[in-house]
Amino acid sequence: MPAPLNLAGRRFGRLRVLATNGRIKFGREQTAWLVVCNCGRQETVAQSLLTQRGWRECSWCQRPECLICGNKVLSDRPRSNTCSDTCAAVQRRKTNQEHYHRRVAADAEFNRRRYQRLTDRMMLDVELAKRVRQIQHASGKRWRNDPANREAIRQYMAAHYAMNRVVIQARRRARLDAMTPEQLAHWRVRIRNYQRLYAQRYRDLIRSDPERHRAYLDRMREYRRRLDWAVKKVF
Ligand SMILES: [Zn+2]
Ligand SMILES: [Zn+2]
Repeated sequence: MPAPLNLAGRRFGRLRVLATNGRIKFGREQTAWLVVCNCGRQETVAQSLLTQRGWRECSWCQRPECLICGNKVLSDRPRSNTCSDTCAAVQRRKTNQEHYHRRVAADAEFNRRRYQRLTDRMMLDVELAKRVRQIQHASGKRWRNDPANREAIRQYMAAHYAMNRVVIQARRRARLDAMTPEQLAHWRVRIRNYQRLYAQRYRDLIRSDPERHRAYLDRMREYRRRLDWAVKKVF
């Protein structure tokens, strides 16, 4: 039986020993000590934890921190490195993404083969095909609605129109020719509203630049002057 130690007042890392607190069974029965940690928490620990196991902070401070949010992982989640199911899902996603990026970096054909496998399976599985198409639509919609992609979309549409102008205009012409007079009237109203909105946006844009705004007003004045002159000449 070792001689009883007096640890009161001693420091073990972040722990300061306050006083004995009875006896405790940890392996064998031994002295229990009340300690206070630098974090402010007090707890009672077995003597051998301090003298042999090398405890230098309280059991709370020893808890692992969540890899995602940094909060302590509580004892209801043993062997987990995340504090909650939400953080666990984020961590799983991160791990999967890292794995994916490693695979893609190592193998240029990885994505093409994976997509091929998926389309093969979609041919056989109607439900899967439907689900994949839903996911693709949603992801395309997210991409289109992201303001960061607006310029790319504008450029793509402009290039598409420049390349297919004849076809697009013929298609428009055919659509207009096929309309009933009521549909045509409705179409005219819609187009006029679009044009009004466009002109509004253009004026707002120009107003934000005083130099350009002045030039624009001059141009409009000149236009109206000529219009008056032309009208006078006709009548
Ligand atoms: Zn502590
Ligand atoms: Zn967390």
